[in-house]
Amino acid sequence: MPLHAPYDPDNIFAKMLRGEIPAIKIHEDDHTLAFMDIFPQSDGHTLIIPKHVEARNLLDMPTETLAPFITSVQRIARAVEKALTPDGLIVTQFNGEAAGQTVFHLHMHVIPVYTGQPRRRGHGTGEPADMDALGKLATQIAAAL
Ligand code: AMP
Repeated sequence: MPLHAPYDPDNIFAKMLRGEIPAIKIHEDDHTLAFMDIFPQSDGHTLIIPKHVEARNLLDMPTETLAPFITSVQRIARAVEKALTPDGLIVTQFNGEAAGQTVFHLHMHVIPVYTGQPRRRGHGTGEPADMDALGKLATQIAAAL
């Protein structure tokens, strides 16, 4: 799929924003939604997506909408750090299928890294995590906002 294909309004994150499929939400404001990745690479793997834009990736994102988005990413990353005290945090995103992107609505990954614990699975692989455990992590992170 080309890097600059048209935005598909039926991608799973667009459906989440419309409430058509469930999300384990951490926080929502006027500009962004933060929720748990259901195939987490480590405990607390969080995704943050912008609302009200049809941006497949960072390159498509209207420049004037970047500030509230990245502000939310920092806020969520700080809450993940406060709630789960990882030793490090990966904050990343992928642009285009060739780069590893699998869902084509812009999203930022916040992936806690715990020294001595290998990441549980590679990017976008494996079985979904236990939903109750993800719900507890979401509550913990939300309480640290
Ligand atoms: P990317 O591969 O960078 O496009 O990231 C997409 C991410 O979405 C992956 O880390 C998936 O594990 C995650 N994901 C896929 N489906 C869902 C879902 N229904 N709820 C939460 N996260 C999801």
